[in-house]
Amino acid sequence: MNLHEYQGKEILNSFGVRIQRGIVANSPKEAVDAAKKLTTETGTSWYVVKAQVHAGGRGKGGGVKLAKNLNEVESISDAIIGMMLITPQTSAEGKKVNQVLICEDVYYPGDSEPEEYYMSVLLDRNTGKNMIMYSTEGGMDIETVAEETPHLIFTEEIDPTLGLLPFQGRKIAFNLGLSGTALKEMAKFVSALYTAYIKSDSSMFEINPVLKTSDDKILAVDAKVTLDENALFRHKDYAAMRDLREENPIEVEAKAAGLNYVDLDGNVGCMVNGAGLAMGTMDLIKQAGGDPANFLDVGGTADAQRVEVAFGIILKDPNVKAILVNIFGGIVRCDRVAQGVVDAYKNMGDKINVPIICRLQGTNAVEAKELIDNSGMEIISATEFQEAADKVAEVLDL
Ligand code: GDP
Ligand code: MN
Repeated sequence: MNLHEYQGKEILNSFGVRIQRGIVANSPKEAVDAAKKLTTETGTSWYVVKAQVHAGGRGKGGGVKLAKNLNEVESISDAIIGMMLITPQTSAEGKKVNQVLICEDVYYPGDSEPEEYYMSVLLDRNTGKNMIMYSTEGGMDIETVAEETPHLIFTEEIDPTLGLLPFQGRKIAFNLGLSGTALKEMAKFVSALYTAYIKSDSSMFEINPVLKTSDDKILAVDAKVTLDENALFRHKDYAAMRDLREENPIEVEAKAAGLNYVDLDGNVGCMVNGAGLAMGTMDLIKQAGGDPANFLDVGGTADAQRVEVAFGIILKDPNVKAILVNIFGGIVRCDRVAQGVVDAYKNMGDKINVPIICRLQGTNAVEAKELIDNSGMEIISATEFQEAADKVAEVLDL
């Protein structure tokens, strides 16, 4: 689950990671109040207005702006809230901005040498260990740094049983070219950051930039935090941070219905039980020349009601030109699923406007095929996996 910058910073702050302070605002008026409050708390007289959307590269898209007084806070917030922000990480339409974060300006006027670094904490799946990636080339697109100057990106591997050892924090600070107070502050920063990553059950932290001010303070100016959804049950307060406005609406609806659904770009809708079979089905569709429109695991109980909900969700995607139902009747009997498909088809009437290819295998598969073939519905039945994929190709003229 992805978080907004302000939520990520809240988590960092709660574990003692120094952050650029900010207050989130839903309207230009709230933005001005937030700015006044920030001045009371931090003494800042300049502010940064930052669009809160689940996408990086906001600065490039005009979503991060400096405001030198309260009037500018108001006018900039007014322009940013409600805008469609287009960044290198959004679609062409961009993302709607609902909130802004009003931050203290931490790049002191006259600060001749603010240094920006890159730092992320994540799991290296190859080694099964966490790692800290860092670079002196912060503030800019890390993908470009990785491409053009890969030697400027360092990684530090962390043994999960030992945790981050003090020398590792110092090594990172040293490699970033720091010494004296700044080195000590950076080692502290890294240690707090790693603790926050572990204790919050995150799967990724990306802090770009980490800032060193001229008076040797080290702080997180940006925060991209991804939480491990499987651990949310033990972080109720984090679960409440979910912003459904940022998520794919069809995926949100599927989740509420207990379906495992991931939206994809293709034109063949898939309804499958079991994640492994769903992956296999997508592969076969690809091999037959098609493109899966989604991953959908309806789970063990593929009854009429569930099948109907699943059809409804698949059909919300306007790209879907055919639906392949591929269900293995192990726990659930195939004839029950077949009845479910037929009932759902009947109930949905002309809402189903694309061909359906249905392959049911397992317990009572023969009865299931008969049921479908005799239903009078326009459902194309198939017995073998390949046969089902070929029939998909056939209806799509591939
Ligand atoms: P991103 O573009 O989505 O990664 O958003 P960031 O939070 O990283 O902000 C983008 C850029 O805005 C940073 O790299 C900084 O150069 C700039 N910025 C952020 N905070 C401040 C600030 O307090 N003062 C000034 N002058 N610039 C800032
Ligand atoms: Mn950034």
